[in-house]
Amino acid sequence: MLAKPRPLDRIIDAEAGIAAEAAGLDALYGHLKPLEIIERSAREFFHGEIAAVSSFGADSAVLLHMIAKIDRTLPVIFLDTGKHFEETLSYRDALVADFGLTDIRVITPEEAALERIDPTGNLNETDTDACCDVRKVEPLARGVDPFRAWFTGRKRFQATTRASLPVFEAVGSRIRINPLAHWTTSDQANYMRTHALRENPLVAYGYLSIGCFPCTQPVQPGEDARSGRWVGHAKTECGIHLSGLEKSLTDASL
Ligand code: SF4
Repeated sequence: MLAKPRPLDRIIDAEAGIAAEAAGLDALYGHLKPLEIIERSAREFFHGEIAAVSSFGADSAVLLHMIAKIDRTLPVIFLDTGKHFEETLSYRDALVADFGLTDIRVITPEEAALERIDPTGNLNETDTDACCDVRKVEPLARGVDPFRAWFTGRKRFQATTRASLPVFEAVGSRIRINPLAHWTTSDQANYMRTHALRENPLVAYGYLSIGCFPCTQPVQPGEDARSGRWVGHAKTECGIHLSGLEKSLTDASL
């Protein structure tokens, strides 16, 4: 008699299926134009089960503008870490109004977790990984939990760590879609100009990748856009794009 599968075995089987699905979508549709990828994903592949995640940072307007062309009611998740620049929060509200987006979901860290792990609010000064876990990774896992897939605006040119970014990728039991993965800085600039999109005001001060204010600095000419993040630390990503999120999603599914 076959042994009854344990819950963990079922999760591993499901995740292998998702990885194959993401690889298949990437092989078949990864070459399409960003607008086509968004349209087919939102209307066909993941209809009613897809969201977008946006930081409303330096490059966020393009993806949101394209999403608004396809479906203004598509849920857009914004992680309010409690450490954003005021300019980013104002920019979020202005872009939402510009594009007529109707379903912005602001996700915040759990109060009890903050009281336990970061009671003084200064954890970023001593342990950036733990701070990102409580302010970004766990909240994002909660934010995407109702969905099968989500869009991001990540691009290969943004950092060497993103040089081989696929368009469709598996994250735990869900699929993350990066429609702009293969775009260049010129593509981005041309689209912004052609559509006269509003820019995050911090870009004018040299902030080319914008996260929380304690961990973001302006970028020097010629440096990659993300070099202003966590300056002085080996850290290059907050964890929401790495295995920390996969673990949180897996834990949430157990
Ligand atoms: S980017 Fe900095 S302040 Fe924001 S969650 Fe991570 S460590 Fe904390």
